[in-house]
Amino acid sequence: MNKKTGIIKDQRLFNHRIEQASPENPGRLKNLYLTLANPTYGDKLAGFSPREAGSREIERIHSKFYLDQIRAHALATDPFSYDRDTYLMDESIYTAQLAAGGCLELADRIMNSEIKNGFALVRPPGHHAEPGRGMGFCIFNNIAITAAYLQKTYGLKRILIFDFDVHHGNGTQDIFYDSSQVLTVSMHQNNLFPFTGKIDELGKDQGVGYNLNLPLFSQFGDLEYTYLTGKVMGHITEQFMPQIILVSAGFDAHVDETISDTTLTTKWFGSVTTMLKKLAYDACDERLLFILEGGYNPISLEASVLTVIDALLEAKLSIVGIPESERAKRLLENHPLHKFWHLS
Ligand SMILES: [Zn+2]
Repeated sequence: MNKKTGIIKDQRLFNHRIEQASPENPGRLKNLYLTLANPTYGDKLAGFSPREAGSREIERIHSKFYLDQIRAHALATDPFSYDRDTYLMDESIYTAQLAAGGCLELADRIMNSEIKNGFALVRPPGHHAEPGRGMGFCIFNNIAITAAYLQKTYGLKRILIFDFDVHHGNGTQDIFYDSSQVLTVSMHQNNLFPFTGKIDELGKDQGVGYNLNLPLFSQFGDLEYTYLTGKVMGHITEQFMPQIILVSAGFDAHVDETISDTTLTTKWFGSVTTMLKKLAYDACDERLLFILEGGYNPISLEASVLTVIDALLEAKLSIVGIPESERAKRLLENHPLHKFWHLS
């Protein structure tokens, strides 16, 4: 039987590391990789090795000036010489190329119908990286490089990016801000790093209405997040009809994460995956690619990623109902997205 779900995991992704403490370190993924090597998962998943993203692929998104700048900083003695979070050492750039290339590898397999969906378990993460600036642990914007690659290589005209990391995906927003071909939806905790992602940041020129932000109160939990995903993603997918759904999958909104105050449970990550699977089934021949962003508590990160993988592996298509939530409903009522999309 063909394996329907692919993953990228590779020990070389641990080579970006420093002696100083940082929440973004190889320890995030070590146990998870071990668990996934276990036959319970290994027999069911199609595992692939990442290739390194080439400079042509990276330069579709990032400026040459930025690439030269980080290459120089990677040689400095102080790993924090470029940015206070985003450390750079000699292996950093190659590791970041592998992280982006791992996403491209899975994108190819999905487009060639070898697999239906996949999860690129890569690091460093990417969604904060802007064309000319790395930040928030992100060196290359993996999901943006993947979207641009899909446009160039497969001629895709409608790509939907959903970002449920607890932080706003400022880099991805910035990169596709004027595009109507890449629709980005970010759900994140309000007033948290990088302090962008307000409801009135809707895109510009042709891209107006194709950049949607849902900044949420930290008191919002599974119920509100499920309501909003169901309502917004459900209706928007139906109207936009993406050819693939890409997910910036960050797990730092989990209740056991100290980096945020949001309180999602492990179970929610399974529910959202089931919802996205159904949307991908309805719109785009099941094409669905998860790309790892944040998630800094290795225990809750492992449990949450495994919950996503379990949901991806499920053979039967389940339906998650949309619960009632007055608070989330009120938030949507005041959102300018109604000018562009119907939510009923
Ligand atoms: Zn994050």
